[in-house]
Amino acid sequence: MTSKSNKKWYVIVTAMLCIVVVAICISFLMNTTKLKKELYQEAKNYAMHLNEQVAGNISYRMHTDLHLIQELSETISMIPKAEICTRILNHKKEAFEFDTILVFNQDGVVFPSTYNLQLLERWQEKYPKIWDEPTISYISNHEILFSVPIKKEGEKTGYVVLAMKSYLEIQELMAKVNYQQKGINLLMDTEGNLIAGPVGKYALTEEEMEDLRGKIITALVFRLKDNDGVMNQSFTMDLLQGEKVLISARALGINDWVQVSVTSWSLREKEYSYHLLIYFWLVMLAGVVGTGIIAYIISLHKQARMKLEKIAYCDLLTGGITNDAFQIQCLDYLRIENWSSYGIIYLNLCDFKYINERWGIDSGNEVLRYIHNTFKENITDNELVARSEVDHFFLLLHGDTEEELTKRVLDMIQKINTFTSRYVLSDYQVEFTVGGCMVEQHGGGLQALQDCARRAAQFHEEKNVCVFYNAHVIKKIERENKLNALFEESLKNHDFEVYLQPKVYLQHDQPCAAEALVRWIHPEEGVIFPSDFIPLFEQNGKICKLDFYMFEEVCRIIDRWSKENRPLSEISVNISREHLKGMDVSFAHTYCAIKEKYHIPDGIIQLELTETSMFCVQQLPYVTEAISIFHKGGFSCALDDFGFGYSSLSALNEFNIDTIKLDRSFFVSKSKKSRIIVANIIQLAHDMDIQIVAEGIEEEEQVDALCELGCDLIQGYYYSKPIPVAEFEVWQDHVQGIEK
Ligand code: C2E
Ligand code: MG
Ligand code: MG
Repeated sequence: MTSKSNKKWYVIVTAMLCIVVVAICISFLMNTTKLKKELYQEAKNYAMHLNEQVAGNISYRMHTDLHLIQELSETISMIPKAEICTRILNHKKEAFEFDTILVFNQDGVVFPSTYNLQLLERWQEKYPKIWDEPTISYISNHEILFSVPIKKEGEKTGYVVLAMKSYLEIQELMAKVNYQQKGINLLMDTEGNLIAGPVGKYALTEEEMEDLRGKIITALVFRLKDNDGVMNQSFTMDLLQGEKVLISARALGINDWVQVSVTSWSLREKEYSYHLLIYFWLVMLAGVVGTGIIAYIISLHKQARMKLEKIAYCDLLTGGITNDAFQIQCLDYLRIENWSSYGIIYLNLCDFKYINERWGIDSGNEVLRYIHNTFKENITDNELVARSEVDHFFLLLHGDTEEELTKRVLDMIQKINTFTSRYVLSDYQVEFTVGGCMVEQHGGGLQALQDCARRAAQFHEEKNVCVFYNAHVIKKIERENKLNALFEESLKNHDFEVYLQPKVYLQHDQPCAAEALVRWIHPEEGVIFPSDFIPLFEQNGKICKLDFYMFEEVCRIIDRWSKENRPLSEISVNISREHLKGMDVSFAHTYCAIKEKYHIPDGIIQLELTETSMFCVQQLPYVTEAISIFHKGGFSCALDDFGFGYSSLSALNEFNIDTIKLDRSFFVSKSKKSRIIVANIIQLAHDMDIQIVAEGIEEEEQVDALCELGCDLIQGYYYSKPIPVAEFEVWQDHVQGIEK
C-alpha cells in the first residue's frame, strides 16, 4: 500500500515538474518573441532619436555658418571693391572659425589673390547654382563649402563669397554620439556619396568596415528610392557573415543630405539573448525550486496524513489493519472483482478473558498477534484480515461457495492450534465462534456485510463451526426482532410467568426450596423458553427489567403464601450479569426496596448470580459490594452454574457466597474423576460453610451418589421440572405430606 502510494507520489511530482518546465519554456518563448519585438522597436526609436539629435546639430551648425557667410556677403556688397582686402576676409575667417574665406568671380579668385581657384573648378561645374543662390556643398571627406552670391540692390554682381570648413567639425558633431562604442555615424547624399564620416567604433577591421559602408550606402540609397525619398527611417539589414545592423537615416534639410547611424544589432541581440538566457535559467531555477518547495510541503502534509492514517488504520497490537482500513480496502478489492466470489468471515475468539487472566495480558496480546499472523500467512494477495475489536477478527476471502470458505477457515483455525504449543498456551486449544456472509448474495454496504457475518456467528453456540448468513439465520433474526417487539406489551400483560423448580434437601427434613424460572406464555406465540429470549434480552439489556419483574412476582407469591399461612419455601431468583454492566450497585438497593415493599422476611429469598458475571476484573468490587448489600437486605446469595466457567475457585475466595450451585455438566459424566471433583468441591464448600446445590439431576443413581457425598440440595428433573406456581404448591403439599 505504501510503496504503491509512493510510486503514485513520484509520478505526481515528476508530472508537476514537467508541467512547470513546459510552462516556463512556453512562457519564455512567448515572452522572448514579444520582448524581441519591443526591444527592436525601442532600439529603433532610440537610434532615431539620437540620429535626429545629430542631424539637428549638423543642420543647425551648417545653417548658422551659411547665415554668417550670407551676412558677410551683404557686408562685402556694400564695400567698394577696392576696399575689400584680404585682411577683412582673414579677420572673418578667424572670427567665424572657417578654414578659408574667399571671394571669386568667373574669372578666378579676387580675394585673396593668392588662392588657386583651380582646385574648385570641378566644384563650380558641379554646382552652377552657386552664382544664383546661397549653397552648401562639399568636397568628399575634405571640406564643407558655404557659398553666397554677392548682390547689390538685388542684382547679381558676378561675385561669390565662398567659405570652407573642414569636414572634421561635422565629424566631431557626429562623434558625440557613439552608440556605446557599437555604432558609426556618417553624412552622405542620396547618390551615396560620403560627405563626412564614418565616425565611431565598430568591432570590425578597416577592410570589413569599408565593405560594410559600401553595402550600407547601397542599401540605404535603394531604400530611400524605394520609399519615395522619405528620409527618416530605421531598419535592419544583414551584413558580412550574417552580421545584422540597425540603420537609422534622417534628412538634414540641406540639399539631399542624409545623416546615417549604423549600430550593431547582432551585438545587441547577443547581449539581449545572454540576458534572456540568464533570465530563463533564473526562472527555471525558481520554477524548479518552487516546485521542489511545493512538493516538499505536500510531502510533509502527506507524511502527516500518513501518520494519522497509520494511527487510524493500523492496528498497533498486531501490526495489521484496523476495521476502518479493512472496510476501505475491501471496497477496493470488491470493486475490482465486481463484488463477486468473495465472502466476509467473522471470528470471535472464545474465552479470551480467561486467556488473559490465566497467562497474563502480555501473553494474551501475543496470542492475538499470533492468530492475526497465522490468518495473514494463509490468505492470498487479494484477500484481507483485520482485528476489528479486542478478540474479533474479520477476513475477506476469495471463494465461490460457502463450503470452500468454511474449509479454509477451519484449516486456519487448525493451523493456529498446531502452533500454539510454541506459545505460552501449550496444549491449550483456541476456539472461535465463526460466522460468514457471501458478498454476492447479500450485497449492501460493507458494514451490513460485516453485521451479517457477525449475526451468523452469534446465531449458534457451537465453537469452530462456520455458519453463513442464510435464510435460517435471517428467520432467527426476524424471530428475535419479533420477541423484542412483543416484550413491553407482554410485561404489561403479565405474559411472563413464574415457574418454580423444587430443590430438595437431602440431609434433613426441611420444607423443599425452589428456583424461580421465567416462562413466557404468549397468547399467540405459545410457551417461549428462556433459551429463546434470555440471551437476546441480555444482549439488548431488557433482561434487567425482566429480572425486576420476576423478582416482584416472586415477592407477591411469598406475600400471598404468608397471608395464606402456607409454610414458606426458600425461593431463589436469577439475577443477570447485565445489572453489573454499568459498574453500579443501585440495582441491589432496588431489590432490597422491593423486598421491603412486600414485607418479605429475611432468609426467604436467595439471589442467584451466574458465575460468569464475576469474570470481568473491573466488575469485581461491584459484585462484592452488591453481595454485601444483598446480605444486609436479608438475602442469601448463590453462585449459579459453578464449575461451568474457569475461575470458580477464585470466585469462592473473592465473594462472600452462601450457596454454590454445581453445574449439571459435572453430573453428565459418570467418570471417577468427576466424582472426585464433586466430592472435593462439596468438602471444600462445607469447610467454608457454604451450602451445595446439585443442578440438573435426572437419575436416582446421581441422587444416591450425591447423598453419599454429603450434598445439601438437589434440583433436577428427577424430582420435578419447573412447574407453574399452583402445581408447585400441590407438589409442596404432597412432599410435605399435607393433604389439602
Ligand atoms: P439456571 O438458572 O441454571 O436454571 C436451571 C436451568 O436448568 C433451567 O432451565 C431448568 O429448567 C434446567 N434444568 C433443571 N433441572 C434440569 C434437569 O434435570 N435436566 C436438564 N436438562 N435441565 C434442567 P431454564 O428454565 O430453561 O432456564 C435456563 C436459564 O435461563 C437459567 O439457568 C437461567 O440462567 C436463565 N433464567 C431463567 N429464568 C431467569 C430469570 O428470571 N432471570 C434471569 N436473569 N435468568 C433466568
Ligand atoms: Mg439459576
Ligand atoms: Mg444453573
